[in-house]
Amino acid sequence: MPLTVKSRRKRSTRIAVTILSGVLPVLLGVAILYVQAGRVLKQSTEQTADEALRQFNLMLDNTAEAARVLLPLAGDSCNDTKLALREQVTRRPFVRSTNLVWDNNIYCSSLFGDYQEKVNPSNYTRGQLWLMSGNPVTPNTALLVYRLSDGKKGALSTLDGYHLSNVLRLIGRQTSLLLQVGNNWLSADGKVHDSALPVLPVAQSTRVSEQYAFTVAAGFPEGETWRYMSREYPPLFSLLIFFGGVSGLIGHILQKRASSPSVELQRALEAAEFIPYFQPVVHGDTKKWSGAEVLMRWNHPKEGLVRPDLFIPFAEHSGLIVPMTRSLMQQTAALLAPVSASFGEPFHIGINITASHCQDLELVEDCREFLSAFAPGSVSLVLELTERELIEPTAITHQLFEQLHGLGVMIAIDDFGTGHSSLGYLRQFNVDFLKIDQSFVAMIGADALSRHILDSIIELSAKLDLGIVAEGVETEEQSDYLTAHHVNFLQGYLFGRPMPGADFINALSRH
Ligand code: C2E
Ligand code: CA
Ligand code: CA
Repeated sequence: MPLTVKSRRKRSTRIAVTILSGVLPVLLGVAILYVQAGRVLKQSTEQTADEALRQFNLMLDNTAEAARVLLPLAGDSCNDTKLALREQVTRRPFVRSTNLVWDNNIYCSSLFGDYQEKVNPSNYTRGQLWLMSGNPVTPNTALLVYRLSDGKKGALSTLDGYHLSNVLRLIGRQTSLLLQVGNNWLSADGKVHDSALPVLPVAQSTRVSEQYAFTVAAGFPEGETWRYMSREYPPLFSLLIFFGGVSGLIGHILQKRASSPSVELQRALEAAEFIPYFQPVVHGDTKKWSGAEVLMRWNHPKEGLVRPDLFIPFAEHSGLIVPMTRSLMQQTAALLAPVSASFGEPFHIGINITASHCQDLELVEDCREFLSAFAPGSVSLVLELTERELIEPTAITHQLFEQLHGLGVMIAIDDFGTGHSSLGYLRQFNVDFLKIDQSFVAMIGADALSRHILDSIIELSAKLDLGIVAEGVETEEQSDYLTAHHVNFLQGYLFGRPMPGADFINALSRH
């Protein structure tokens, strides 16, 4: 079966596509969340660095102010100035000690009073700030020394490293925050390092102070983005997985639809794979060809020629039977119109129509177009409606049959004897022919009851003045019986099998 083999063959691809359509949205969602988390972290380090910069600037403002007040005193004797030095230490927050300098020599200190120590200006970044790991008084406590000088005069004020590392700890919290002065840097644990500043691989933000010679760096260690996501996004992950599932399901359903019979039929229709075969119908008496029934075949690229009963039900179900029949009529007209001038009497062309097709007035247009391809009077179009599915009489069918008769189109009831049509039904649709189902013909000479039904049908059609066609005539005995009973037309393998258009036109010239 062409409509099921195809979908089975593609199962592995279908599973792969289903998995992909489920996994891709999840991956995409995770990627978006990763970028979003990166953005949040960057924002956080920027804020942290800004805040640290602000705090350090404020602390240094205080420290610098002490040096500014003391600078004019440089050169005065230590005895006269040491109280002023101590006053600054006591009055100003963060300031731990102050010193006076003359000609790059500390000569007076708030701690010791008279004191002697060389000052090396190159220790100070931009001559201004020196981050020390400690001094002789507190060797393990970080210090930030602020230097102010004017000629030989100089003043130093020292900021306690404890306050600095406190800021790094309190503002930084989860962020790694560092204070860098020249080649030295202070970490939140209060230690001063002179190694290269460590790289903060995730969301590093650096701020340079405009007033003072220091820099602040904030950032996160490797893998922080994933840690942040696993901390903050579990509900979003659940949502993503849910959407992945839904998307996979949709992918699965869409594919099922894509490989459904109707999609495959649509493809075949566009590829013009539905072609007409022609089976001759002969006169009961002379056995001359009086017409043909058009039978649809699917010229499938892989399955070969497919019988109509394997795909017509799908075509009916999907509504594609209408365009398929239209295509069949157009192909039939294109094939037969060029030889129609040689037809001595109107050549009967039977087209099979399903009941659902009769709810569509477009059928009238299709018939008009079909007839207009032929020389006037050269063909009779016969629509064959199977008795197995009766047509529901509606306003549309009423209109349809009226217009069809107006065009001269004739109606035949196909497979007659297998359904339940009443006399009223035959009259309502202005039926012209009855086609006796082949099962009754097959019983000629075998089954008395079937022959009785056959005789009744023949009798009935004569009384109703309907033409009669016997289908499935395979033997001379059947043919002789039907001819003896005045059946007008015969159709069956005895006279010709359904054949492609070219063969039919060839054979036509011989009959
Ligand atoms: P049907 O309209 O009753 O067509 C007659 C069927 O009997 C054809 O089968 C034909 O090949 C077959 N047949 C003809 N002479 C003999 C014979 O002597 N012995 C036997 N055993 N069979 C014979 P086919 O072509 O396979 O078509 C089957 C059915 O498919 C048709 O039955 C018709 O109902 C449907 N069909 C075919 N073409 C179309 C179409 O274009 N549209 C619609 N709606 N249905 C179609
Ligand atoms: Ca038929
Ligand atoms: Ca039939």
